[in-house]
Amino acid sequence: MKIETKTKKVVKTIRIDVDKCNGCRACEVICSAIHAVPKFSSNNPARARVRVIREPLSDIYVPVFAGEYTAAECAGRDKYVIDGKEYEECAFCRASCPSRDAFKEPDSGLPLKCDMCESDPTLQEPLCVTWCLADALIYEEVEVDETAEQQAVEELDAGLQALAHKHGWSQVIDAVDRMAKKD
Ligand code: SF4
Ligand code: SF4
Repeated sequence: MKIETKTKKVVKTIRIDVDKCNGCRACEVICSAIHAVPKFSSNNPARARVRVIREPLSDIYVPVFAGEYTAAECAGRDKYVIDGKEYEECAFCRASCPSRDAFKEPDSGLPLKCDMCESDPTLQEPLCVTWCLADALIYEEVEVDETAEQQAVEELDAGLQALAHKHGWSQVIDAVDRMAKKD
């Protein structure tokens, strides 16, 4: 019988209260500033890892956080209708993907992803949360059970991502293929 070892893992999230967002874009400004080089030397919302989608007629603002990079466009798209207004299919998507410019570094085109401000360990909470005076962004830490198996898979994923970043996916795939043939 297989015995699963459980450990606790802290999952960090930012809950969004859309009803409170007033579209001030302070979250975009401070996010781009903390990621500027040197830190806080400039701000350009185009470099932010959060962007606020605006619907001017009904005065709706929706903050969207940058998620994972994806090398290929997805085949299925979702349409959202809020208060009778239809939003374009990719409006609320969190991915940095080839089909649009959102969540890409404007100069280099490199993908941007929200890192929960972990690059600054002195922060008590992500800076966009601190700067959101309307309390539309709420930082939460949730403890979840994680099995040893899940942990191993996540470590493997992280290791492969790091190798791919350094050598490119085709080299990693070739190496795995060679090793599998040796087994
Ligand atoms: S700082 Fe808060 S209120 Fe302002 S745009 Fe961002 S989420 Fe909305
Ligand atoms: S948590 Fe930090 S990295 Fe993520 S959007 Fe907010 S300011 Fe940017």
